[in-house]
Amino acid sequence: MSSRSRRQHSKPASDSKSEAEKILELMYEQGKAQFGSAMKSFWLYSGDFCPGCLARPIDRIKFKGKEDALSINGFMYRPRGVLIGYFLCEVCANYIFKEVEKHPYKQTPLHSDIERNLAEAYHKHLSSLDA
Ligand SMILES: [Zn+2]
Repeated sequence: MSSRSRRQHSKPASDSKSEAEKILELMYEQGKAQFGSAMKSFWLYSGDFCPGCLARPIDRIKFKGKEDALSINGFMYRPRGVLIGYFLCEVCANYIFKEVEKHPYKQTPLHSDIERNLAEAYHKHLSSLDA
C-alpha cells in the first residue's frame, strides 16, 4: 500500500529577496549570455533619489510589488562589468518612455546623466564596502 501524499516543501527562509532583485538577477543571467565573462556582477541601486534628476524620491515605487519591480531598468557599467539595476521617478520614466517612442535607438541626454550618477553611486557603494 503506497501513500501518494507528498509533503510540499516549504519555501526556504532565505527567500527574502525583493521582486526587484529577482528580476535584476534574471537580467544578469540574460546579460551573461550576451556579454559573456564581461558581465561580472549585478547591483541594485537603492539610493533615496531618482538617478535621473536626483531631486525626486523613488521610495514610493521602490520594492513595492511585482508590477513595480517590472519597471526596473538595467544599465551595464562596462568598466566594472556590473549590471546596475535602478528605478526612475515618474517624471523621468515618462520622459524616457516618450523619447524612446520618438527615437527608438537614440540615447537621450537624460540617459547620460543617469549613467554618470549610477556610476558615481556604485563607486560610493564600493568604497563603503572597504571602510
Ligand atoms: Zn527623476
